[in-house]
Amino acid sequence: MKIVRKYILSIICVLGFIQLNAQEKGIPTKGFAVYETNGDFKEYDFTRHAVGEHDIEIEIMYAGICHSDLHHVKEDWGKEEFPLVPGHEIAGRVIKVGDKVTKFKVGDYAGIGCMINSCGQCEFCDGDKEQYCKGVVMTYHDHDQFNNDELTQGGYSNKYVVTEDFAISIPKNADMEKVAPLFCAGITVYSPIMYSGVKKGTKVGVAGYGGLGHMAVQYAVSLGAEVTVFDITEDKRADAKRMGAVKYVNVNNPEDLKGLDNSLDFIISTIPVNTYDPYMYMKMLKLDGEMCIVGLPALDGIVTIGIDKFIWQGNRKVYGSQIGGIKETQEMLDYSVKHNIYPEVEVIQPDGAAITEAYRKVFDGKVKFRYVIDMQRLK
Ligand code: NDP
Ligand code: ZN
Repeated sequence: MKIVRKYILSIICVLGFIQLNAQEKGIPTKGFAVYETNGDFKEYDFTRHAVGEHDIEIEIMYAGICHSDLHHVKEDWGKEEFPLVPGHEIAGRVIKVGDKVTKFKVGDYAGIGCMINSCGQCEFCDGDKEQYCKGVVMTYHDHDQFNNDELTQGGYSNKYVVTEDFAISIPKNADMEKVAPLFCAGITVYSPIMYSGVKKGTKVGVAGYGGLGHMAVQYAVSLGAEVTVFDITEDKRADAKRMGAVKYVNVNNPEDLKGLDNSLDFIISTIPVNTYDPYMYMKMLKLDGEMCIVGLPALDGIVTIGIDKFIWQGNRKVYGSQIGGIKETQEMLDYSVKHNIYPEVEVIQPDGAAITEAYRKVFDGKVKFRYVIDMQRLK
């Protein structure tokens, strides 16, 4: 009896050792990080957790640069942990799948947006709005409660390991070079456009004509809306026209602003700075009109609308929105591929200096319309 017990014990020990070894076999990853808020990117090697039974490992092909990445690097929304590898617009190829994965196989294309897991049990998870779950795990600048509290690092890197439920299936006919920004810029504007029921004839205003804004124009136009673009410079007017906008307003030109009150059914604000007045837009809403705010400037000195204004402009609705749930993100991707709606991208090298320069240009409003890092060229 004693011998049998000893035998069983040693088997358990060996199995434990094998399991521990498997767990320890993390994924060596190369990326680009900032080490402080200066936005200076340098190479950074780190390890991601091993591929679990429900996980897939993605070899990242392209990663978009979102203005939110700039906000994080500058600590506009709070303290960050450095080194910080940003990036939540990720598209790549599946190179490994866990034993219980059913949605993907090796060789498929997959995308990741702003979140990589959630509690799976609350009303938000049940209602396909995982982005509002209190246990949501963000793609970077977060700790992954499902993987030993690992610090999450983003897509400016060559590999990502994610649970299959939070990966989006990219169809084979998608334009891979342009698809990554859809997982943040695309879904963030698609979701409220659908939520507010934009349709043929809806008079839509798009405030902030950058990465998110140019996606909003394309979705609204595809639904048959009449789109007005609000900008601060006029150098992207030809692009707005090509994308189907019918009217342009330079918000710094008082002449342009005349006669706009009570004229729009739906407005989306993607403005990333605190130098604008949201009430100016609210006044442009028709009765029963809706305005969605997705642009999130630095919290220090954040712009507001006084509650008195909600009474003077009664029966108009102003709401905020955060990305979209996983189900809706898949729907957005399928809609975008079907209607050939993509961001306009400038592809840059996976190189610290190139990313640093791209940040400066996004900050200065010199990008048309999204930088995408070609991670495949990373040696
Ligand atoms: P971009 O920098 O690509 O675009 C911002 C645009 O706003 C630029 O075109 C800029 O013009 C324009 N702009 C700046 N100031 C004004 C102004 N006063 N009036 C009108 N337009 C102005 O940023 P993104 O599109 O990537 O992101 C926009 C915002 O959305 C950011 O704050 C980002 O963090 C947030 N965001 C929010 C998400 C959410 O879930 N709610 C998800 C993703 C992003 P110009 O080019 O001439 O400088
Ligand atoms: Zn983003």
